[in-house]
Order: sequence, then C-alpha cells, then structure tokens
Amino acid sequence: MESRYNPSAIESQWQQKWLEMGLDRTQENPKQPKFYALSMFPYPSGNLHMGHVRNYTITDVIARLKRMQGHRVLHPMGWDAFGLPAENAAIDRGIPPAQWTYQNIAHMKGQLQRLGLSLDWEREVTTCSPDYYRWTQWLFLQFYEAGLAYQKEAAVNWDPIDQTVLANEQVDSEGRSWRSGAKVERKLLRQWFLKITDYAEQLLQDLDQLDGWPERVKLMQANWIGKSVGAYLEFPIVGLEEKIGVFTTRPDTVYGVSYVVLAPEHPLTPQVTTTAQKQAVEQFIQEVSQESELERTAEDKPKRGIFTGGKAINPFNGQEVPILIADYVLYEYGTGAVMGVPAHDVRDFEFATKYDLPITTVIMPAEGDASEPLAAAYTDPGIMVNSGPFDGTPSGEGKTKVIEYAEQQGYGKARIQYRLRDWLISRQRYWGCPIPVIHCPDCGIVPVPDEELPVTLPDNVEFTGRGASPLSQLEDWVNVKCPTCGGDAKRETDTMDTFIDSSWYFLRYTDAKNEQDVFTPQKVNDWMPVDQYVGGIEHAILHLLYSRFFTKVLRDRGLLNFDEPFKRLLTQGMVQAMTYKNPETGKYVVPSQVTAVEEVNSETGKAETVYYEKGTETQLSVFFEKMSKSKYNGIDPAEVLSKYGADTARMFILFKAPPEKDLEWDDADVEGQFRFLNRVWRLVDEFVNHPSSAKKKQKTGELTKAEKDLRRAIHTAIKEVSDDLEGDYQFNTAVSELMKLSNALNDADCKDSPIYREGIEALVLLLAPFAPHIVEELWERLGGKGSVHQQAWLRYDPEALVVDEIDLVIQVMGKKRDVIQVPASATKAELEEFARSSEKIQGYLEGKEIRKVIVVPGKLINFVVG
Ligand SMILES: [Zn+2]
Repeated sequence: MESRYNPSAIESQWQQKWLEMGLDRTQENPKQPKFYALSMFPYPSGNLHMGHVRNYTITDVIARLKRMQGHRVLHPMGWDAFGLPAENAAIDRGIPPAQWTYQNIAHMKGQLQRLGLSLDWEREVTTCSPDYYRWTQWLFLQFYEAGLAYQKEAAVNWDPIDQTVLANEQVDSEGRSWRSGAKVERKLLRQWFLKITDYAEQLLQDLDQLDGWPERVKLMQANWIGKSVGAYLEFPIVGLEEKIGVFTTRPDTVYGVSYVVLAPEHPLTPQVTTTAQKQAVEQFIQEVSQESELERTAEDKPKRGIFTGGKAINPFNGQEVPILIADYVLYEYGTGAVMGVPAHDVRDFEFATKYDLPITTVIMPAEGDASEPLAAAYTDPGIMVNSGPFDGTPSGEGKTKVIEYAEQQGYGKARIQYRLRDWLISRQRYWGCPIPVIHCPDCGIVPVPDEELPVTLPDNVEFTGRGASPLSQLEDWVNVKCPTCGGDAKRETDTMDTFIDSSWYFLRYTDAKNEQDVFTPQKVNDWMPVDQYVGGIEHAILHLLYSRFFTKVLRDRGLLNFDEPFKRLLTQGMVQAMTYKNPETGKYVVPSQVTAVEEVNSETGKAETVYYEKGTETQLSVFFEKMSKSKYNGIDPAEVLSKYGADTARMFILFKAPPEKDLEWDDADVEGQFRFLNRVWRLVDEFVNHPSSAKKKQKTGELTKAEKDLRRAIHTAIKEVSDDLEGDYQFNTAVSELMKLSNALNDADCKDSPIYREGIEALVLLLAPFAPHIVEELWERLGGKGSVHQQAWLRYDPEALVVDEIDLVIQVMGKKRDVIQVPASATKAELEEFARSSEKIQGYLEGKEIRKVIVVPGKLINFVVG
C-alpha cells in the first residue's frame, strides 16, 4: 500500500505518543555518562520567533544525538518571566502582569511542543513563580551574608519614561534606554549592589578554562572586566591638607603632567574651586549632570572642561599645575581624578590644545628632538627625557622604576584597576523578585527569616505607569514588624534586576522540584557544568558574566563544587530575511507592496530582477536583515509549521548555514528540504512495499560490486555525519551527507539485497536527531523495535570504506578510449599492464610507436604515440 508523506498527520500523533511514553524524561541511570544540553530560556513575550526556533532546534539535535550515543541527557526548558513588558501590558491593557505572563507561557509552550523538541517538561522553571523566586530571595540573602550585597547612594542611570533605574548595560551607545529609547539622565538614589568586583580577577583568569567558548565572547568579557596595571599617585593641593589621588597606566610619563582633572562629582571639587571660578564651576556641574555616562565618555565627542582656579603640585618635580574639572572623568571609575599628560595621551593632547595647556615631551623615540613641538600625542614606548633622575631610561623599565621611587618617597604605589564595577540590581518596579529585607529604624537592615520566604508580590496593585514603584504605594504590604525587635518597620520595595533570575536557573533544572532546598549538592554537582549551552551573542557580557559570578559565589558558599557553569558555548547566528527599503524615504516597504520586474542591466547587458514599490517608479534597495516586525520581514514559525511541518523547518534551519553563522531565509530552500524528506519517505515506502524487504538481514557469501559500492556509501555517510556532529556541530554538511546517501540508495543496483535494507535503516537512524517525527514513523513501518530515538548511534565499519577496485581511464594521445576496472592496489607497472591488455586500446596502439606512458595512480593512464 503506497502512502504519501503528510507531516501534519504524523507529527502531532508522535508528539502525543512520546508524551505518553515519557520518552523525553531525563534518564537517571548513573552508569551512563551525563550530558547537559541547554538553550538560553526565553522571555515569554507571547510569540515564538525564528530566532527561538533556530536556537532550540540546534540544542535539540545535540540532545537527541547524545542520547543515541549512550548518554543520559538533561535537556530542560523554562521561562525568564519577570520584567517590564508584563508591567507595561498591565498599564496599557489593565491585565495583571501575572495573568499576561502565564497566558503567554501557555501559548509559547504549545508552539514549542509543535517543534518536536525532546524537552523534559517535568523540570520546567518559571522565574516569576513563588516556588522559584523563593530561592532567588534565599540566594540573595546568601550574598548578603557573605558581604556581597550592599546598599549605597549612587549616581544611577534614570529612565524618565519608564521611571526606573537602568544598569549600564541597558543604556545604548547613544545614551538611550534599551527599552523605552528615552535619553537617560543621571540621578542619585539609594540602591542595592552585588559586589561582582570582588571576583573581577577570577572572572578574568578563569576565561582560560573555557576552551569550548568562542574567542570573541571571551574577549568581550575580558574587555568588560577591563584590567589595567599601573600606579596610584598622590598630588598635594596648594593651600590644602588633602591630596588628589590618581590612577595611571603610564607612571613613566609623570614628569609630563601639565594639569590634573577631577570628576565634577568629586568631593574635593568645591574645596579646590576659587571664589572667582565658583559660579562658572557650578554652572558646568549643572550642565554635566544632564548628560549620561556614555555621552560623557564617547570617544567621538569633544571633551569639555573648566578651570577651578585651584592648583596641585607634581610631587616628582615640584611643579604647580592647574586643577580642572571635565565631563569625561567619572567619579565611579578609579579614583575620580586623572593626571593630564598631553604629550603622550591622545585624549589629553586634544584637551590640552583646546584649553591652551602646556605640552611637555617626556618620552622620545630613539632618534628625535625633545624640544620640537609635537603634532600629535606620542603614545609608543621610547626613552624617558625631561624626567629628572630617570632621563635615558627606556619607558617600559621606567614604569617600574617610577613606582619604586614613588613608594620610597611616599608619593604612591603600584595598583591594579578594573573597569568592571559592582552590579546595580535594584529596580523600582513591581514585576520582579522582591528583595527580601526589612528596614528597621532601630536594627537597620534585617534579612527576612528563611521560614518567611518567599516574600510574595501582592496582587492588589494599581498600575499607573508613573512615579515610584507600585510596591512602595501599598501601605499594608510595606508596613511590617521588625523580625529582630518587633518594632514598626518597612519592607524593601525595590525588586531585583531580572538578570539575577537568569544567573542561576540552569542550576535549578538539576533539582527543579526540590521544596526543601535550592538544590541538593549531589544533583547539581552531578549534572553541572552544562556541557553545551546554546544562545545569542547578545548575552556575551551580561547574562554569561553574571552566571559565572553566581557560580563562583555559590561555590565559595559551599553550595556546589565547580568553577564554571558552561563548558561549551555555541552562539548561534541571526535569522535574516529579505527587506525592501525605499531609498528616498528611508522607509521599509511591506512585501505585498513590492513588484519584481526582469530588466536588462544597461552596463552588464545581463537580465536581473529589479524591485519597485507598487504604483511608483521608485526602485527599492533589497538586502537581508534580521527578522523584525518593523522591517516587515518576519516569518511566523506557525505558518511554516502548518505548511511544511516541524521536520522540514528543522532541516532547513540546520542545512542553510553553519549554526554560528547568520542564516538567510529562503522559501526555495525550505521547499528543497521538504522535497528531500519526501524522497526519504518514498525510498522507505517503496522498500517496505517491495516483496524482498522481508528478506533476512544477514548477507551470506561474497558481496557483488554493486553491494560493495552501496555498503561503502552507507559507511561513508555514518562516518561523515558522525564527524560533522563531533565538536563544532556542522549540521549543514551532515545534512549534505544524508542527501548523498539517499542518492546512493536511489541509484543502487541491489535493491533486493540485505545491504539495501542496511542502507535504508542507516538513513533513518542518521536522520533521527534532525527530523524526529518522520523517522519515527518510518522506523515503525520498517518494523523497528521501540522508538527510533532509543536506538544506538551507528558506528562505521572501516573495512567497508576500503576501495578495492577503481575505474581506470585509459587515454591515447589525451583522448579517453576505454575505462576498465583494476585493483585499487595496483602499481604503476601493473596499471600499464592492465591498460595494454584492453582490446580496444590494442586497436588504437597497433602499428604505432609508444613514445611515452603517463600514469596517474588511481585515476588514468595516457599513451603518447608517434
Ligand atoms: Zn528592629
């Protein structure tokens, strides 16, 4: 009985059966090696997009492959469910954030299940659920106990639209909020911080352990941590007791200091400012306070400063130098003060030129004249000049010598500084994990006792979208008794940055149902670290750095026993699709409003497709860009699934590009994968309907040439697919190998042979991780035992790969005259012998003198005759 491939019928049916069988439940057999395959969990926005589909498909193939290779696999999924959009929905549409979030989760879960992902849903975690955030709060208190969570007054990034504080990472390069797009302001507020700076050196050093991470991500983290080695030097202030401390990576240039700059917020600023400069300085500080940190430090922006009237003394040469304040110096970085050496720093050179400050050369190239004015900063190494006792010292050596001298004289010392700052985690928002502390007028900050966790979010909240956190307006929630003294006290009303929720979710999956503990050490130490993590490059510094920090702190608290959470990281490329843009208006055009016309290019004379906006003469620019609603190029996964099924969608995504590269959506290629699966279906269908398919598996006696060739094709496919999936997961080339195998089966001249059955089964088994539904159906039709996904991954037989006969092309005077089969092991002399024995060739050579014989072993032989 012939049948057609109908994905919509078989996919939902198998998904249901797998659920009933518990096929995707995590296996706990301790005799098997473990493998933890993890996708970055999604924010439940309500709709699955192609980026998700790509991410989860990649992880799923890996999980399925590892199961077939004999591992017990942990492959879970959850929801990064706190955050602003839910609160905005509450403001815009009056739906409570919890309701909006859980509706979205239900919808997205249904979409995920249609993809046929082998996820263990029994370990699902949802960060906004009290049984999860109870432990987020408990972990926060672990940090607090360790002295790693503290409150301080800080200048923060304030989003005037969302009325909330933003982390530095949430402000873009133009100083705008990553969510609302509002221009970010600076504001002083009391905030909670986690002391990630205590772990700066470890976070940097341990990058070396991460062999399975992309170099690019490691470099981004190293830059973010920003270690610099240099000196802390102190400059006395004329007329004051206080000194200005500066950090410099170039102590060798200290004799070239021609001014000192304080941050406008520096506490010494009012003291050093003279009466004459007071008004101008205050006005300048006022102006700078309106600018975001990124605006102040942007490299392409001219730096602004103002003289305070005060003077500092360079302790090395006793010179008095002016003290300025400038926008580019931030109080939170380093000491909040810098020394200006215009001759040897690009930014200082520009600044000094602008404000007419002296530029003194103190480092010279080997040949040069120190008295000649510089046209630009000289930043390379050289010889110290104009530097008192250090004249003639090479600048590299000079760094150490200047520091030694400073230590002897009490001017300063060696210091290592990091760019990384403590992690601001307070959010003045409702839909987040409440920070579990109580403020008591007598006892100060009191942690909420363990047995009272979780501090749950109240649900009688009004959302206006304005002012302070909705929690701070709920008096019956805010007012509590102090757990220590019993007096009147108030709850903390800040909630935590959602990046805290995602800094430990991968640990909870190992013991997701535990109600007594955050997780048991035995389970977390068994499954962790994650063997393969898959997610977007946009998380290179935020989530991936915070997760590493959490892991190290929990290790130091004795909760787990490993240093790093993610052994291997794969950052998948974007999913792009064609966009049409009107070059005159700069606006994107909806594809239904585009007309494609074949035109002859007047320059090349070749026909090409040109695109116009309908009803206009405007030729559109056409290019691939990341899928997005605003560009009208999004492709809804649900539509692709309805039309072709999940298996085709998966195959296309895996075949179209290597996983770490961007993928360009192409309907024709989707169609191509659908045709390939149809061909596999037909091959199996014809086979099971063929009378010889019932023949027993073992072949007896010698294999024919056709059987040998097919067997070689089968085992080559097993070898190549296995190699492609080892290490860096080259799914695209693995799919190509499967296509080659299907061609070999199609063309095989031995369809009655047991070898053919071996080939059909191999094709199905090798395809299993990629297209899980169709193979399960075909496996059943082939009479396979159990689920195809529970079969062992095939191993190739090296002997099957041996080529024992080759086709030898025989040429006479460069023209092909015959092809004969010869043993692959034949020597050059033997090949010539074989060629001469061909009757056809003998005809060509008769009566002629052979001048030369050219032999290309394994390929051809050419007779040159006279
Ligand atoms: Zn108290």
